[in-house]
Amino acid sequence: MPTGSTRAGTLIAMFEARLERVRNAMKQGGVDTLLLSVGPDMPWLIGYQAMPLERLTMLVVPIDATPTLVIPSFEVPRVVERPGVFDVDGWGETEDPVARVANLVDAGATVAIGDHTWTRFTIDLQHALPGRSWERAASVVGDLRAVKDDAEIEALQRAASGVDRIAAALQGGEIPLIGKTEAEVSAELGRRIVAEGHAKVNFAIVAAGENASSPHHHPGDRVIRAGEVVLCDFGGTTAEPDGQPGYCSDITRCVYTGEPPAEFSEAYDVLQAAQAAARAAATPGTPAEDVDRVARDGMAEADLDQWFLHRLGHGIGVEAHEEPYLVDGNSEPLVAGNAFSIEPGFYIADKWGARLEDIVVATPDGSRSLNQASRDLAIVEA
Ligand code: ZN
Ligand code: ZN
Ligand code: ZN
Repeated sequence: MPTGSTRAGTLIAMFEARLERVRNAMKQGGVDTLLLSVGPDMPWLIGYQAMPLERLTMLVVPIDATPTLVIPSFEVPRVVERPGVFDVDGWGETEDPVARVANLVDAGATVAIGDHTWTRFTIDLQHALPGRSWERAASVVGDLRAVKDDAEIEALQRAASGVDRIAAALQGGEIPLIGKTEAEVSAELGRRIVAEGHAKVNFAIVAAGENASSPHHHPGDRVIRAGEVVLCDFGGTTAEPDGQPGYCSDITRCVYTGEPPAEFSEAYDVLQAAQAAARAAATPGTPAEDVDRVARDGMAEADLDQWFLHRLGHGIGVEAHEEPYLVDGNSEPLVAGNAFSIEPGFYIADKWGARLEDIVVATPDGSRSLNQASRDLAIVEA
C-alpha cells in the first residue's frame, strides 16, 4: 500500500500527464485556451467536480500558463489542491466571475469551452471576449478521454464487478420480482448499486413484459407477473478516494419469471450469439461501425435486425455515455484503451423485448469483457 503522501504524489503525476496530453492536443488543434466548467472533463483533468449551480466554477487552461480554477471562495475548502497542476482563485460573493475568467484567458484567438457549460456563462464569456473563435472542448479532450489508462481500466473493472454481483443476485432469484412493481425492483437495484461502492445511481431500468419493448422504459407501477421477461439495465458512478473522478458501470441482463415460450428463448439465443460475435469483433483497428454491423448481421439470422432499434454501443468512463460510439456511420477504428458497451437488443411493440449488455475494453490482445455475469436467460421462480 502506498502511504498517503506517495499516493498523493502518484495522483499528481497522473494529472500532470493528462494535462500534458491536453496541451499537446490544444497545440495540434490550434486552441489557445481551454475553459471547463460542470460536466466530466474537469474531474477527469484535475480531479475536481464543479457544483452544478448558478455560481460559476471554471478551470482556465491557457496554452502555456498554469491552469487556474476560478471558484466561489466559500467552495475552496472542497478542492483537493494539487500543487503544480493548477492554482485556485476564489471569487467573493459580490465579484464578477466572468470578468475574472476573461482576464485569465490567453491572448490567442481560439477558445474551446466545455460541452456541458451552462449557456448563460458561455454567452456572457462570448460578450466579455469579443472577436474570439469558439469551439467545443470535445475537440480537445474527447479523443483523449476515450483512451483509458491502466488506472481508469481498473476503476471500470471495479465498477463492472460490482454490478456483476447484482446481476448474479437477480439471476439467482435473490431479488424478489413476482408481485413487486418495476419501481420497487428499480429501488432495490439502486440500493445494491450504492452498497457495491458506487457514489451514485445513474439509472436502474426495470421493464416487465410488454414494457421491455421500450429500450429506455421508465420503471413504474406495473406489477411483475409470473411468465414474462424482466429486462434490467442498471449502473452508477463509483466513489473514488482523494477527489478522483468516479467511473461508470452499465449492464443489462434479462430474466424470465418461469419457463419462457420457445419463441422467446429462440430469439434470445440469437441475441446472445450476436452479442458474443460483436464482442469478439471489437478489437483495435476495427472500425466502430463494423462492430455494429456484426451484431446486426447476427440478429438478421432470425429476422430480428428489424427490431434492433438503436446503435450497438457507447463509450464509457467518467461519463456513462461518451466517445467512441459504435454506430453505423462512425468509421473511426477502435484503439487499444477504448472502453464501450456492446448492447444489442430486440424490441417488439406491445409484446416483449430483450437486450444484453456488457462493458468491453479493446486491448492489444483483442477485446476483453469487464462484465462476467452469466449471459444466459435466467429463469426465476419468485
Ligand atoms: Zn441506453
Ligand atoms: Zn445500459
Ligand atoms: Zn449502455
